[in-house]
Amino acid sequence: MNKPWYSEGLNFKCTGCGACCTGAPGYVWVSPAEIQEIAELLQITPDEVVEKYTHKIGGRLSLREDPKNYDCVFLNGKRCDIYTARPKQCRTFPWWKENLKSKKAWQETAERCEGVNHPEAPLISLSEIEKGLNT
Ligand code: SF4
Ligand code: SF4
Repeated sequence: MNKPWYSEGLNFKCTGCGACCTGAPGYVWVSPAEIQEIAELLQITPDEVVEKYTHKIGGRLSLREDPKNYDCVFLNGKRCDIYTARPKQCRTFPWWKENLKSKKAWQETAERCEGVNHPEAPLISLSEIEKGLNT
């Protein structure tokens, strides 16, 4: 199999700026297992998590966002209130297939995420990237 274009690794370091949790309409999908984890963290029932923090989009559940600024419902300043139980979609950013499909896509990701190609970012190896992709 051909090596991917990022086989030499990519530079990334999350600065905690919070930009990926706000700024544009989007969906953060949550599975039943993830809802259970959030419920345990918040010490409420899964039904309460669904009711208070999610909405249904095409039969799937996504976290609510503020319609004014698109802040995720769990964004608190620049911090995530459920950081240890954040959904897989959040944990695996920026290692998403669509961000890695080409150099151009990666550059576009860098425009939205200051941690991509950040001057202090370490080189993340191919195996680490693939771990994120396959999580
Ligand atoms: S936009 Fe990038 S650097 Fe900022 S919090 Fe999200 S992943 Fe981290
Ligand atoms: S759950 Fe946390 S990490 Fe995910 S988008 Fe919301 S605030 Fe950001």
